[in-house]
Amino acid sequence: MFRVGLGGLIHETNTFAKTPAVLDNFLKPDGFYPGLRSSEEILRFGDGRFNIAASGFLSAAPAHNFQVVPLIWCGAEPSAPIAKDVFDHLLGLLIDSLKANMPYDGLFLDLHGAMVYGNLQDGEIEILRQVRQVVGEIPIVVSLDLHGNIAPECFTQATALIGYRTYPHVDGFENGERCADMLAYLIKGGQIFGSFRQVPFLMPSTTQATTREPAQGIYNFLEELERVPGVLSVTMMEGFPPCDQPHTGPSIFAYAETSLLAQGTVDWLLEFILSRESQFSTDLYPCEQAVKKAIHLATHASGPVLMADIQDNAGGGSPSDSTWLLYELARQRARNTAIGLLFDPDAALKAHQSGKGTEVELSVGGHSLPGHHPFTSRFKVEALHEGTFIGTGPMVKGRQLDLGKMAHLVVDDIHLVVSSVRMQALDQSQFRVVGIEPASMSILALKSANHYRADFGPIAGGIINVEAPSAIIEDPSKIPYTQLREGVRLKGLGPVFHRPN
Ligand SMILES: [Zn+2]
Repeated sequence: MFRVGLGGLIHETNTFAKTPAVLDNFLKPDGFYPGLRSSEEILRFGDGRFNIAASGFLSAAPAHNFQVVPLIWCGAEPSAPIAKDVFDHLLGLLIDSLKANMPYDGLFLDLHGAMVYGNLQDGEIEILRQVRQVVGEIPIVVSLDLHGNIAPECFTQATALIGYRTYPHVDGFENGERCADMLAYLIKGGQIFGSFRQVPFLMPSTTQATTREPAQGIYNFLEELERVPGVLSVTMMEGFPPCDQPHTGPSIFAYAETSLLAQGTVDWLLEFILSRESQFSTDLYPCEQAVKKAIHLATHASGPVLMADIQDNAGGGSPSDSTWLLYELARQRARNTAIGLLFDPDAALKAHQSGKGTEVELSVGGHSLPGHHPFTSRFKVEALHEGTFIGTGPMVKGRQLDLGKMAHLVVDDIHLVVSSVRMQALDQSQFRVVGIEPASMSILALKSANHYRADFGPIAGGIINVEAPSAIIEDPSKIPYTQLREGVRLKGLGPVFHRPN
């Protein structure tokens, strides 16, 4: 048996967001995340096939003869940087459990890659630095979300970094299996050489979907490269643009049995990516135009027209409570339309107090960002829910979600899904629990950039990307960076970033 530690600390940080990441977001259930798990609770991820790397790692462990030592595992919904004391506390828990269970033959860490804490410090660098100090020169294999903004030091501290290769992320489980395979190879003394390269341009999130071009072809090519004899693993991180860090943006890394092969692999991949650079540009419609287009499309579409309110995506750290699109849908009298999720605990509570079937005057959303306004109206309370239910779509299937008190409010023919916990609209169950069947709607306004595609994509009669203000700016050339590295192109063939003097 090989003694292998398993830990996780996950956060995607939008350094331009205002929504704070407090300790409770990590300790308690928070949207996608189940709350902090320690020791034996972590092993329960192995009870099923959950879309989490720790779950895949645990299921692969017996075949590799791993005796898994559970440490701590937690994550929170994307938001502003983690306060330094919160970060120190969580990392302290991980380090303490690591020290208490020594020694190890190897270590598996489930991280994100775009974590920022304190005064714009890189979370993963500090995690890996401290972990490395404790465990010394044993193999450390890390699973990363493909939105990681990876610093060169992160690459050197880990023995191997392995990233998801789907967005919407549906291969968390498989990535855990990949990490288990790599760790087994390393523990048995397998040779490894790595090569790391930063891609010289940023990829707007709407261009990152791996279900279509240009990203789909790149990941297909990546898998071809991985089949070359002697190549152990190839990753492309697409990066998370709303993050003011020197290493924000895509990076690629490969591991092989020889140094030459690792270098050659990243060279091939970089060349392939650069040949597609022009396709990494933005295609957005302002609210008024987007709603007009959706209403027109809906008259003859075979399924609901999806309006992606990409910049108010909780999954990118936005508040998920902006009302610009809602106002425009109401103004243009959109019919048979649903919008969600609108994060507003106060409105949800008032709807619950008023009761199902009643009418109530509410000011919904628009509370979180300066210059934003609530949508005030008289609503019918169509349905209520306590917010705990099991996800059904590819990203969260079989996992319990906890969105706090939820309400289905109706004004004219527009149906609002209000939640008390921020979460991206990525699963049809989020609508069904309050009585809305997504496929029967003419228009579905979803606060999400791409993850919605996994579950809502198959029923879509059309997709429109909406540009409405929130804490994410989709076009990186409009993001007010100060820390980015000199010379990066701010989107495909976009303007070059120069550091302010
Ligand atoms: Zn991601």
